[in-house]
Amino acid sequence: MPVVRTTLVACAFLLAVPAAAADDDRPFWHPDAGTPAERFELAKRTEPELVAFLRRFPKGADLHNHAGGAIYSDYVIDAARVNGLRYDPVARRFTAGEEAHTVSLDELEADAAMLKAFFETVSMRGWYPNTDDGHYHFFQTFSYLGSAQRTETQRLTEIVRRNRYQNVNYLELMALPTPTEALSRFYRVSWTLDLDDLAASLAPFEPLIDDPVVHASITAWLDERAAEISTELGLSPPLGEPGSDIALGYIGSLLRTGTMERFFVGAVYTFTAMRADDRVVGLNIVAPEDHPASRRQFDDQMRVLDFLWERFDRPAITLHAGELTLRYAPVASMWDRIRRSIDEGHARRIGHGISVAWERDVVGLLEQMARDGVLVEINITSNESILGVRDDRHPFEMYRRAGVPVCLTTDDEGVSRSNLTMEYVKAVMRYDLGYDDIKTISRDCLEYSFLPGGVKGERMAMLETAFTDFEASLVSGYREHQ
Ligand SMILES: [Zn+2]
Repeated sequence: MPVVRTTLVACAFLLAVPAAAADDDRPFWHPDAGTPAERFELAKRTEPELVAFLRRFPKGADLHNHAGGAIYSDYVIDAARVNGLRYDPVARRFTAGEEAHTVSLDELEADAAMLKAFFETVSMRGWYPNTDDGHYHFFQTFSYLGSAQRTETQRLTEIVRRNRYQNVNYLELMALPTPTEALSRFYRVSWTLDLDDLAASLAPFEPLIDDPVVHASITAWLDERAAEISTELGLSPPLGEPGSDIALGYIGSLLRTGTMERFFVGAVYTFTAMRADDRVVGLNIVAPEDHPASRRQFDDQMRVLDFLWERFDRPAITLHAGELTLRYAPVASMWDRIRRSIDEGHARRIGHGISVAWERDVVGLLEQMARDGVLVEINITSNESILGVRDDRHPFEMYRRAGVPVCLTTDDEGVSRSNLTMEYVKAVMRYDLGYDDIKTISRDCLEYSFLPGGVKGERMAMLETAFTDFEASLVSGYREHQ
């Protein structure tokens, strides 16, 4: 069968993967190192080479980034100094008080042990696997981060600056506009929650939903942040204008561990903010999913979301769902958590989805997610440190084999001492992704973002241009302007 043999040889030649030869000593930026895909295979030999490649690789979006957990504690110290605060080494917080046991910022920075204790308490620097529980350590950090009196603009600027450095096209941050004028109107409403009559519960808020004063104050808050961040970073065009080299969207987060009253008001306010300004693109629910209150209130929270989603004309929702393992939750919390978050909570995207394998009719669920385009926001670093899930215990490859779209995301990059580049580095090293794989993931992040259609089209075109520029830079020496 000579014809068949010829064909097979030809196919083998055409399909040959240009893997880096073991004796190839060229760096990936060498003039003769081949196509971008061939250079990527060279970069995969070591983590530093992969960092150098992936830091500038265009990333469509980070779709799962809590602004509260994205800040680095290093800058918290700077803010405390600027704000004239002292440090309380017992409470491990900054304070305006002058108590005898507090120290100045100079004293804090001069005391290596005290400085180490601070950093270890407020970030995952203090997590020592096998001696400290990552889950506990992670969630306690948040109670320490707010004491330095940083402004919202300072926090957002830090996050935008870092992501711009990593060629991230769009940031969909979990942060919510909080203009006093709008919020105070919601808090002044006299009402009671009746879970059996949600329309009656909502009635006292109805006048606020389309109130022009509420809408105007939300828009003014967003305009102000955009202007301040743009000035701080010298963005031209400024944030929010066509062609700005990074875009920013806001997602309101509701606490799943608080009271149902707080959850309801928070949801009504967030949906109102989405109606007021299309820079508020979605809603999420946050806090440990394994907390007893999260488990007990899940039914009620899905009921509230189902009702309000219809009332507000079906806006975009993404939900943390299945950030669970048997170590932290009974199996009954895992057999329908993701499915119900999609079917009842109307999640267009799922955050984490770690417990998917425990879902009833997992095949049907994965088929549904692939068919309906329910993307999973994958948080490799976070899952490893909080849940102890990594490598082949993570469902990343299961989702991809089932055709479910995925996006690599950071979750809490500051607390985790990570960033989006490192999420790509870890995914590539652990799951042997090729250049086409990471381009698909990067594009899907933007495609499944909650950006309004016109803006999304514009950002998608910018991402393709960024790929072209990046690939051209690879073959022309990979030098970068200082
Ligand atoms: Zn999260």
